[in-house]
Parts: sequence; structure tokens; C-alpha cells
Amino acid sequence: MKLFSTRDRNQVVELREAVLQSLAPGGGLYMPMSIRRLSSDVLSEVLSADRFCDAALLLAGHLLGGSVLQGDLKQIVDRAFTFDTPVVMHSDRLGTCELWHGPSMAFKDFGARFMAGLIGHYAKDAVTKITILVATSGDTGGAVGAGFEDVDGIDVVILYPKGRVSRLQELQLTTLSDNVCAVEVDGSFDDCQALVKQAFVDERLSNQYQFSSANSINIARLIPQSFYYFRLYSKARLYAEEGDLVVAVPSGNFGNLCAGVMAQQMGLPISKFIAATNANDVVPHYLRTGQYEPRVSLSTISNAMDVGAPSNFERLQLLHSSTWNNMRSNIIPYHLDDDATRAAMREIYTKYDYIADPHGAIAYAALRDTLAQDQVGIYLETAHPAKFKEIVDETLLIDSPIPHQLSNLEGMPSAKVSLSSTYADLYEWLRDR
Ligand SMILES: *Cc1c(COP(=O)(O)O)cnc(C)c1O
Repeated sequence: MKLFSTRDRNQVVELREAVLQSLAPGGGLYMPMSIRRLSSDVLSEVLSADRFCDAALLLAGHLLGGSVLQGDLKQIVDRAFTFDTPVVMHSDRLGTCELWHGPSMAFKDFGARFMAGLIGHYAKDAVTKITILVATSGDTGGAVGAGFEDVDGIDVVILYPKGRVSRLQELQLTTLSDNVCAVEVDGSFDDCQALVKQAFVDERLSNQYQFSSANSINIARLIPQSFYYFRLYSKARLYAEEGDLVVAVPSGNFGNLCAGVMAQQMGLPISKFIAATNANDVVPHYLRTGQYEPRVSLSTISNAMDVGAPSNFERLQLLHSSTWNNMRSNIIPYHLDDDATRAAMREIYTKYDYIADPHGAIAYAALRDTLAQDQVGIYLETAHPAKFKEIVDETLLIDSPIPHQLSNLEGMPSAKVSLSSTYADLYEWLRDR
């Protein structure tokens, strides 16, 4: 599989390089040189697969085209995808696809676990042990940490801002296996990110460490996210055959939506997507006006989508041949403020007896407001509502249940390292490990 940089078409690399580098030199993002359509035989095999990992193996084999041996690929997907993506229909025309059945209970598990498997695979012949160094403001760290648990040959160091992640999020970071180390930094998320960047370029550490960032723009995180659109289609198929399928995607950095468009380009019959955002509506604004105006992000109750300069926008453009007209004929713009998001959560609860998290609720409202008579709509539930329990409870006036994956964390042994926000501290700690 060959990939090129969104900033320079002549910069072509193999999958291994794209995955270990994350970001292309010059700041571009890696994209597959070609996204081939599946033959109708393979497509029907994918759609009738019993388990998620069976569908994933066919799709990964197709996309990666021999970059990873079939046997190794099977190991990677079998280990990564031990859970599925149930579709819950609210009516004949409207339903949700639950993407939160993985260990960290957010859809980021799909990307993080596949990436962990691939990096683990490449680490087998690395001379120096690979260390994943990441900063997290909450959810990503949990998914990445869990993805790399017990992966041989990889160390993970996760920096998070002290006192600024929820208690459950902190427990998700601090209760993992010995190869995953949680570092609480006395500072902000931006401080954590700045520390990571400094360590990456510190030559004094380059003999001792081979760092990899495993961040959200890594192509290995995007690829597996296309898989669940096939799964969603096969589960909603009976309904979808009655009308065109529209998928509403709660979006922040737009990785999820890019992956959906990739699935569509592989031949999955999705009619349209909806880019559903909170008040951070840079992309919906672009779709309406043709003007792309990134800005500072606003805080909302759907905080995993508080993004003012979406990192995957370049990919989204390329997937539509960098043409505004192509993009807006494929993607419907939608955004919702916090009050209307809460109203949508209440509506889903009273009308369909279903608890949605604030991110999914925005995508639900998008379908409610835009779906045509002859269309079937599925909105993505990107996180379990318990991850946003406070907002859910005060909005619905209930004491919502906490699933065992999260409640179990309370009793587990937890460990962390505490550092100041000065680089010298991080440097010395890394040097002496
Ligand atoms: C990360 C995240 C999103 C946004 O996904 P993108 O791929 O960045 O658009 C939406 N919802 C939840 C719960 C998330 O964690």
C-alpha cells in the first residue's frame, strides 16, 4: 500500500513509514494513493460476515493490498476487534449505530486498537524499542492506552493535565498494564502537548528512544474506522433497501466522516452523509458558503467535538477531488447549540426510551431535521452515555446506569507519575527510566 502526503503528491511512502511517522514532513497528512472499489463478490462477503473481525480482515486485506502478510493481518484484527457495532432502530426509518462497545467505550477504540496492532507488528523488527508518547485531554489517551496494553515491544507514555480530566478518564489511564505509563502534568493540555513536541526533537534522547506519536491523524487510525460503516450497512440493510441510506456523523476533527467517505468510495451504497457538529461549525459553514475559516474552539457539552481547526479537513477535501461542489453534494451541513442538544437528548429519551450521549444526540437531531420521506437514517453513537454521566443525568433527570467496564475501574490498582510542566523534569524522568 502506497500513500502520499496531502501537501505534496510526489512524497510517496509505504504504509510502514506512514504509520510510524504519523505526520508527513512539511505537515501534510498521509492518504492512500488509491481507494479501489470492492468487487461485488467481496462486498457481499463483507456484508454477510458473521463477526466484525471477519469483515475487517477482508476490508483490511483489500485496502492494505499485501503490505502486511495475511496471517499477521488476521492476528492484528482478531486482537483489535473483539466487539461489534449493534444497530438499534428507533423506527423503520431511523436508528443508531452504537460504536462504543470497545474497552474505553468510545469509538476511538477502533482506530487506536488497529494502530496499536500495526505498530506492534512493525516493532518486531525495530532495533530500539518503540515508545509511544502522547498528550491527551481525555478520551484519546484511554483508547490509545487500552489499545497498547500488553503489546510486546512497545512502551506507552501518556501525558494528561492534572485535575482537568474526569475521575473515570483518569482511572482509564492509570489502571493499564505495566507497559503503559500515565504521567500527570501540573499544567494544561497545551502544556502537555508542548512537552511531547520537545521530547520528540530532543537529540539527547534519540539514542535511548524511538518515539512515535500515534496521534489522531495517523492513517492507521482512519483505515479501520471505515470498517464499521460496512457493518452498519449490513445491519440496517433490511431497512436501507427500502430507501437511500443517510449516515449522520457527530464530528470534530472529521476522521470519522473521512472514513465513511472512504467506505463509500470502496463501493458501499451510502447515499449521503451529514456533518453534524456543535457550535464549532467550521465545516458546516464551509459546506454552506464555500469559505473555510478555522477559528479558536468554543467549549460545549459535546466536548470531544470542540475543534476549531479540524485536522482532517485536508483529507476530506482530497476525498472530494478538492472541489466544494463535490463535497456539498455528498455531505449535508448541520450544527446544534447546547440547549438544542439537551432538547434532542430529552426527545430521544421520551420518544424512543433510549439514552444518547450529547455527541450522538446532535447527529440524531440532524436526521430528524433533514431526512426525506424516501430515506433511511442512521446516526452514530460515538461514546457510551455514561462517559458523560453528569450531563446526561442533569438533562434527563435520571441516575443513568454505569456499565461494568467503567465501574470496575474503581477497585483496580492505579499508578501514575506526577511531573511539573517544565521540560527539564520530563527530560530527566525519561532519561532515568
Ligand atoms: C473524538 C470524538 C468525536 C469526533 O470524531 P472526529 O473523528 O474527530 O470527527 C465525536 N464523538 C466522540 C465521543 C469522540 O470521542
